Amino acid sequence: MQSIREIYKIGRGPSSSHTIGPERACLYMLSNYKAATAFDVTLFGSLAKTGEGHRTDYVIRQTFGKIPCQIRKDTEKTDLPHPNTMAITALKNGEELGQKTFLSVGGGDLQILGETLPDGTADCYPESSFTAIRALCAKEDITLKDYIFRCEDASLRPYLNEAWEQMKATIRKGLHTQGVLPGGLNVKRRAMELRLTGRREHNLIKKENFLISAYAYAACEENAAGERMVTAPTCGASGVVPAVLYYEKEMFGYDRDELVDALAVAGLIGQIIKTNASVSGAEAGCQAEVGSACAMAAGALAYLHGKGLAEIEAAAEMAMEHCLGMTCDPVGGLVQIPCIERNAVAAMKAYNAAALAEIVYDDRKISFDLVVQTMYATGKDLSAGYRETADGGLAKLYTDKKQ
Ligand code: SF4
Repeated sequence: MQSIREIYKIGRGPSSSHTIGPERACLYMLSNYKAATAFDVTLFGSLAKTGEGHRTDYVIRQTFGKIPCQIRKDTEKTDLPHPNTMAITALKNGEELGQKTFLSVGGGDLQILGETLPDGTADCYPESSFTAIRALCAKEDITLKDYIFRCEDASLRPYLNEAWEQMKATIRKGLHTQGVLPGGLNVKRRAMELRLTGRREHNLIKKENFLISAYAYAACEENAAGERMVTAPTCGASGVVPAVLYYEKEMFGYDRDELVDALAVAGLIGQIIKTNASVSGAEAGCQAEVGSACAMAAGALAYLHGKGLAEIEAAAEMAMEHCLGMTCDPVGGLVQIPCIERNAVAAMKAYNAAALAEIVYDDRKISFDLVVQTMYATGKDLSAGYRETADGGLAKLYTDKKQ
């Protein structure tokens, strides 16, 4: 299993598979075809259908800079190696220098059809399931944190520090920014208002929920605006883990090392999901994105509050279990409706899962690995309209209503 750094990529929103992945594909072509005078890009599947709303075109043009580039969209081809497929041809004075087919497989990860990316991260975890990791930790009497930092190299902590600093910066910027998000849906930024509400006493609803939501909104609104953020595990789901850790910092005063350790535990949970299933909405629906983020956050909370491996597993399992079936249907192909609100609800759900796990962890019938397997199978059963194509659910009905 690869480093958990793969879960936390620092880049620009709004969609890891639609912006970070394609950006890396363009950078690969630029460095491997230095003589190219033009590029021809064809987007397929979800990239073709929702790329404009997700700013794929914008990122491709920005990355190629002054080199002319033609972008085509093929929405008809269905026999694809992955729902997020793109082909790039390098040209020199009209002659083809070479062509590569890239698969943007989620979380900003990239594969080249039939090849291995030279910068691909080597596996550093011998175990790849929660069951195997749990058994090893029990046998050697070590914690999840010990296990992670033993498997990874010394660069992990500085990297996670950087990711955490960026998460905080993203939330702070989001909390202080007002206005309307780009894209044409006229979605108003709400993070500042939620935080102000959370600072007041409220008789009906726990005010903590407003603060947790404010942090999730702040991160997601920044992502939707195309600003710098950290995938956790994707751009679309980048509000959940930062929101709960930021709330813990503000409320309980955890220091940076403690929060980074929790980030590491969340990353391990995300990496297990990514290795055995998917964190891509285009591949397995929103359960794979926000559901994974919810499981990561719940596990991190259990860890932060001193719970053992069984409670951490139960918290992550419960969080994922109650996101099963969640569809990916972003209105207008933008990562705004239902994505922003969904991150806030998932952050609150992570607290509920962690709280329940504290009591019922010793009698769970469903393991984390089983719920991950179930999520993936459910994702495969979802019709294409519910996997980031903007052809089903809210995306379709909202558009139809407007016609
Ligand atoms: S609905 Fe979920 S999976 Fe789909 S783009 Fe939004 S956050 Fe990502």
